[in-house]
Amino acid sequence: MIWTLSNLKTDILNYLESQKIYGNNIFFEDDGIDFKIDKDIVRENMAKKQSPNTKPKIEKNTLVADTNIKKTKTNNVEQNATPQIVNIDENSVEKNWQNSDSLEVLYNNIHDCMRCELGSTRNKFVFGTGDPNADLLIIGEAPGRDEDLQGEPFVGRSGKLLTTILESIQLSRDDVFIANILKCRPPNNRRPSTSEVDTCEEYLHKQIELINPKYILALGLTAADTLLKEKCVMKDIRGKIMDYRGKKLMITYHPSALLRNPNLKRPVWEDMKRLKELLAN
Ligand code: SF4
Repeated sequence: MIWTLSNLKTDILNYLESQKIYGNNIFFEDDGIDFKIDKDIVRENMAKKQSPNTKPKIEKNTLVADTNIKKTKTNNVEQNATPQIVNIDENSVEKNWQNSDSLEVLYNNIHDCMRCELGSTRNKFVFGTGDPNADLLIIGEAPGRDEDLQGEPFVGRSGKLLTTILESIQLSRDDVFIANILKCRPPNNRRPSTSEVDTCEEYLHKQIELINPKYILALGLTAADTLLKEKCVMKDIRGKIMDYRGKKLMITYHPSALLRNPNLKRPVWEDMKRLKELLAN
């Protein structure tokens, strides 16, 4: 659904956000004059609003993600298994994984990794997806519940919003590579420990070397803190071009922050427009 009259935009946005139906699902296109609504999400949200007492649908696997789980060698999960087995195994990756000459080889060499305790609690290893030669590498901190269940980065609501954000600068998920610093979900989405980050970040370094992107876009303050190894303040670093291991790094808000606070869509839109210009040069 497209409106082109700029004087209607503010009124419509205010109305939609006041309805709390569409507010999370709008992203700007062009110069912020036009915008589009993800019709699927709108329909979904309208249905929810019309049936407030409807119990949320529980996916078969959802219970597994939030319960105390024990992971076996065959990737099966058992609910309520205690105590949790933590198995750290330096030999769980191929000895010469650093010599991997493609993302595919790297994946094959490291996907059984148990080099930190997150390997014992993950459901799926989340390597990353997209174009192995992408100009833009997008990095989040770590997989969340949906990512852990599906083995893909940025799925679920924030993933859908990321797709919309990319589309707003005429990019699809297939045009970029999307990955996380950590390849396994920290239980209950806790902050990863320094040693977990240090161990896993080596894989990200190798991914950067193999993809050789023109730009890296880090999403969220936690990813920024982790990459830059310092406590960052978003307003000080957002939209600036920084260096990360010889690559140009830009940081902007995480899509989940936009879902919580739609006012952040404007600064992200500005960052994305700038990134689009930089990528074109
Ligand atoms: S988080 Fe990284 S280092 Fe830890 S087990 Fe997973 S892949 Fe290995």
